[in-house]
Amino acid sequence: MHHVTQTTPRHLGTPEPHVHDAVIVGAGFGGMGAAIALRERGRHDVVILEREDDLGGTWHVNRYPGIAVDIPSSTYSYSFAPNPSWSRLYAPGAELKAYADHVAALYELRPRMRFGVSVERAEWDAADGVWVVTQSDGATVRGRLLLTATGFLSQPKLPDIPGVETFAGKVIHTAAWDAEHDLTGEDVAVIGTGATAVQLVPEVARVARHLTVYQRTAIWVTPKLDGPVPRAVQRLFAAVPLTQRLARGVGSAVLEAIMVTGVLHYARFSSFNRAAAATATRHLHRQVADPELRRKLTPDYSFGCKRPTFSNTYFPTFTQPHVDLETTSIARIDEHGIVTTDGRRRDVDTLVLATGFDLWDANFPAFTIVGRDGKDLGAFWRSERFQAYEGLSVPGFPNFFSLNSPWSYSGLSYFTTIESQMKHIDRLLTEVDRRGATRFEVTEEANARFLARVRHQVGSSVFAHGSCGTSRSYYFNQHGEATLLRPTSTLNAFREAGRFPLSDYTLAS
Ligand code: NAP
Repeated sequence: MHHVTQTTPRHLGTPEPHVHDAVIVGAGFGGMGAAIALRERGRHDVVILEREDDLGGTWHVNRYPGIAVDIPSSTYSYSFAPNPSWSRLYAPGAELKAYADHVAALYELRPRMRFGVSVERAEWDAADGVWVVTQSDGATVRGRLLLTATGFLSQPKLPDIPGVETFAGKVIHTAAWDAEHDLTGEDVAVIGTGATAVQLVPEVARVARHLTVYQRTAIWVTPKLDGPVPRAVQRLFAAVPLTQRLARGVGSAVLEAIMVTGVLHYARFSSFNRAAAATATRHLHRQVADPELRRKLTPDYSFGCKRPTFSNTYFPTFTQPHVDLETTSIARIDEHGIVTTDGRRRDVDTLVLATGFDLWDANFPAFTIVGRDGKDLGAFWRSERFQAYEGLSVPGFPNFFSLNSPWSYSGLSYFTTIESQMKHIDRLLTEVDRRGATRFEVTEEANARFLARVRHQVGSSVFAHGSCGTSRSYYFNQHGEATLLRPTSTLNAFREAGRFPLSDYTLAS
């Protein structure tokens, strides 16, 4: 049995008297997974607050040309909501957005969502045992639980280049793509060569009169073994779901092998990593004949320090006569274009910022979160190290799950993270209900134990043993510690989500 959330009208500055079972912030795949997990545990009165004007998170926000997933789609999806009709092995972004809509409909999540709501602050009210969540319009929403699912890559980063604000032409960050703006016949500059640029650059080159790509750090690119999923296979997946589960299993096993050997146990398996780098280098040699261009496109850090990418069209784009790869640093931007440190200038019509996202300053957390005794999560993380028990819970923050925490990203597909977190939430809330408790909080000891363990384990990874100094990877925080990825296998993450000692939490009524 379930019912749809009653959304009480909001009045400026007036606390909403209703206390929801839970407030979730973020209507992407993480927030939707959290709502589904809560529903399993009988918490139906859930409100999901979303900054954007629709659901889907990353896949709603990012709409740049060329966007596609680069984890096989049968794996990059909820295991409990398979989609037999992915059109390609790696589905385009719009299909991911449609899939998010489909899952929201399946679990009746949309009526629980409020869009265009920017959360500024959440504070634990110890007297009432509720979280008070304040929106930017001053309205408040209250919930017995707070779950933040605000994403890792959700605060776009603008480059700190002098004069960037003076550019008189069109400026587009890839996370705010302007589909109305036609790049056909324009002189375009793209700043940045991360995973986004790798997908976008070939598409821009297709239509632009001239394209200059400004590269500060080269990126590893391996071949993308992509293709359409034949109708017969789609029909088979629909008729015999087990076949798609098998495909998912194969995809997961390959990703797990890459993660465990190439990233986590680099100290023992660096040959695996070197083989991946050799594959990328061969790919470059096959696609680019000019040795100087190859040199510029070759990274000087170990494969895996930074998220590698997959593309068959990125390298050849730079061999086209109307495309330039610029590796001299940018000195400044002015009204008309970009000036490099050697004094050369390039005037452009449109400046595309493929400059990524701010994780460690603007995110973690995405808004002010104040727990017990006035403890501020952002200040705590910055003064006492980034940490979260099982990447999910923090001492001093009762009835709170932070889905996008330091050490939480498990495996290569984000759905591994989401589903192991759903399992953890389910286990804990089952115990909370069994004991008739109303409050839970992870213990200092359990948190310290987890932190010590992951800090030890990351010591065997590519982040510690590889040559990562020049990679400028967002896997590392501002102190140079690789505190984003959970340095265990995903099997371990799932096992622990189903088995962690319940005594790691204090429960109270
Ligand atoms: P990113 O990987 O952080 O890359 C940003 C790029 O902008 C880097 O090349 C960076 O250079 C450059 N940059 C930033 N500030 C600059 C400045 N002031 N001057 C010059 N260059 C500057 O961001 P992204 O490409 O948007 O990708 C972010 C993540 O999104 C990916 O790693 C991936 O996890 C995800 N993603 C996934 C997919 C997919 O699955 N299909 C596709 C796209 C993105 P430096 O390296 O020198 O800092």
